[in-house]
Amino acid sequence: MTATGPLRTGDPRTEQLVDHYRDLAAPRWEQVADKDFAAQWQAMADLGVLRLAEPSDETPGPVTRALATIEGIGLAGVDPGLCYALASQLFGMQFPLRAALSPDAWRAVADVQDGGVLLCHALTERKGGSDPLSMATRARREGGGWVLDGAKTFITAAPVADRAIIFARTAEGRSPFALSAFLFPLDLPGVSRGETFDKTALPTVPMGELLFDGVRLPAGALIGEEGSGLAVMASTTAWERSVILGYALGPMHRTLARTVDWACGREHFGRPMGASHQVAARVSDMALALHRSRVQLYAMAARLDAGTPARQLAAEAALTKISVSEDYVRLTEHATALSGVRAFLTDSELTADLAGPMAALTYAGPNDLLRVGIARQLGLPVEN
Ligand SMILES: Cc1cc2nc3c(=O)[nH]c(=O)nc-3n(C[C@H](O)[C@H](O)[C@H](O)COP(=O)(O)OP(=O)(O)OC[C@H]3O[C@@H](n4cnc5c(N)ncnc54)[C@H](O)[C@@H]3O)c2cc1C
Repeated sequence: MTATGPLRTGDPRTEQLVDHYRDLAAPRWEQVADKDFAAQWQAMADLGVLRLAEPSDETPGPVTRALATIEGIGLAGVDPGLCYALASQLFGMQFPLRAALSPDAWRAVADVQDGGVLLCHALTERKGGSDPLSMATRARREGGGWVLDGAKTFITAAPVADRAIIFARTAEGRSPFALSAFLFPLDLPGVSRGETFDKTALPTVPMGELLFDGVRLPAGALIGEEGSGLAVMASTTAWERSVILGYALGPMHRTLARTVDWACGREHFGRPMGASHQVAARVSDMALALHRSRVQLYAMAARLDAGTPARQLAAEAALTKISVSEDYVRLTEHATALSGVRAFLTDSELTADLAGPMAALTYAGPNDLLRVGIARQLGLPVEN
């Protein structure tokens, strides 16, 4: 990892945390690398990866600590799919739930930090990915609670999750108050698992469908108020867009390091490949992508640690998500070009994973749509 040394110049306490989790995770990962997703998840949870630090005035704060933890396990070589899934639960679910729920309600679900209970975030439907207000899943009031019908598709961890945050229509039309958010266990009568999906990107993380047929939810399953679903979604997605791509930092460091080693060792035209200025420029561009991503992600974590409500960070969160995901793709493209044929061999040290970074252009809000939203906030008369 020496190649990325010059890029590790952040706050020393944060850098120490990154190293601590790298060193903790590396031997544990060796023991579980060939185990199933649940065993790997539990192994990382046992290291404390999902445990949220209490909010305090201490630095680094809880979000920065969590980001450093995720970067550290990625640096240790933990599978990027697992890092993605852990980051998704931490940043897109645990932190926003802790902020949104009463202290008692949070305590009731805080066992998710121990790893034995998995969460999923179920928004997407087959007919409406980018457009939440087109959703067909409905919840209607009945007997003091709710009855839920519909389906959520392409949901990370759905085949193995124990609880879900679900968004459903509680009023007709495209009003901003037409949706509500619910949190409930997935062993309730009427819940079933539908299709599962094999992915080319992050293939180790299960993805699937959840079906709801007259599921009776208690009144307490509602997150916030009836009609506040879009507001809850604004919070979970702003959290996610701010820091989820922290999971990419470890793989980016590792890809850069192995590309530098390769460029130093490979001989071309009677000299090391790395003596070519064009090769050097690509390596520098990789470093630039990683540096830019790191600075932005830790800046977002610091804003969240400072107590800025995630919804107020929507524009910066979108900019960060676009920038880091596109830098992750760009860095991987440079590495692929410099690796030659070995990038395309399945059992090479230089095998390229292009699909994983490319998927980041789509999840947590497709970049094209995020760009539209940013332009709208700048004053352009543009709608999705
Ligand atoms: C790895 C991965 C994990 C995921 N995990 C989850 C999860 O846990 N929970 C969940 O709810 N969902 C999840 N998703 C689904 C994801 O949120 C959706 O894929 C995303 O919202 C886009 O929806 P869609 O795929 O239906 O694309 P579509 O809505 O069909 O859009 C396709 C593309 O069309 C373009 N486009 C469409 N409309 C516009 C417009 N108005 N302006 C500009 N461009 C436009 C964009 O380029 C967009 O990417 C995951 C996806 C991936 C890839």
